Amino acid sequence: QVAIPVDEVMSGERFRWCENRMKGVRLVPLYRKAKYEKYAERAAGCATWLQFYEMESGEKQLRAANFCHLRLCPMCTARRAMRAAYKLSQVLDWVESKHIGVKYLFLTLTMKNVPGDQLGDALTQLTEAWYRLCHHRQFERSIGGWFRAIEITRNGMQYHPHLHAILAVETAYFSPKSGLYITQAEWRDRWQKALRVDYKPMVRIQTTKAKVKDGGTISAGHAAAVEAAKYAVKDEDYIDPKLPEAEAVQIVRDYTEALHRRRLTAFGGWLKEAAKALDVGDLDDGDLVHVESDTIREDVADYITTYNWHLGAGNYVLAQRELNPFKVIETNVPL
Ligand SMILES: [Zn+2]
Repeated sequence: QVAIPVDEVMSGERFRWCENRMKGVRLVPLYRKAKYEKYAERAAGCATWLQFYEMESGEKQLRAANFCHLRLCPMCTARRAMRAAYKLSQVLDWVESKHIGVKYLFLTLTMKNVPGDQLGDALTQLTEAWYRLCHHRQFERSIGGWFRAIEITRNGMQYHPHLHAILAVETAYFSPKSGLYITQAEWRDRWQKALRVDYKPMVRIQTTKAKVKDGGTISAGHAAAVEAAKYAVKDEDYIDPKLPEAEAVQIVRDYTEALHRRRLTAFGGWLKEAAKALDVGDLDDGDLVHVESDTIREDVADYITTYNWHLGAGNYVLAQRELNPFKVIETNVPL
């Protein structure tokens, strides 16, 4: 057995456990005041214990936790975004390996702002319009595969629902003679028709560029994945100490109603094939424990540690640290 100081708190984490947990604590009364009593209870109990595979160095990998899986929970939202970016990167890599020379485009499709009571209908309109757009002949001819995600931003008490999409195209797409290229004006025109509106909606189409991060370069596809896998809603939109409480409660209500049972992401074409082949599962939720590639596997970890959330300490406190019984001890094999 290993001697442990009783008040050892969790530290040195790459994932912002404490910060997300504290935000979750602030979400509870908002749920309660919005009359979602059961959600309030679930959010209050989210990630109150975390279990890790841990190395002697203190490096950890999550093994199990009690997540609430609520759409607006900051902890679960952050886990979901991480998982989505990870899975999406795998999907894009798979497509790149099967379709040599594939390029990714990043498309943003918007509509007019709406008040809270129209947000749900607006999201339905967006997804139906997307369906019409991607079944259009020109789209089907030019675009090999796609991923799309709904995002909502807030401006006062008006909401701005829009779609982000990653489009996979062949190199020939950019050749003028191919007839495959779709101009920004054409995108806008098509999107207006698909939305069935009498105004010209804002549309942005960009080629994805490699981004420089932490001194290294991540591929264009991966940069696009991280961008597209961002949260559907940002928790700063409702968990903000500067926001009057009545407004925050109303925003929680608007988001909860609009997002209820709604599919926020979808795949098509090559990306759908890839998602199926890789068994990526549901990007809207799914397993929130394994959200990145395993850096510490069960067979190499030194310990299994359990931390409990202590509101008073404002941190996770070590509850147990045991030697990992699954660790494989290598012995010298005689030649
Ligand atoms: Zn949660």
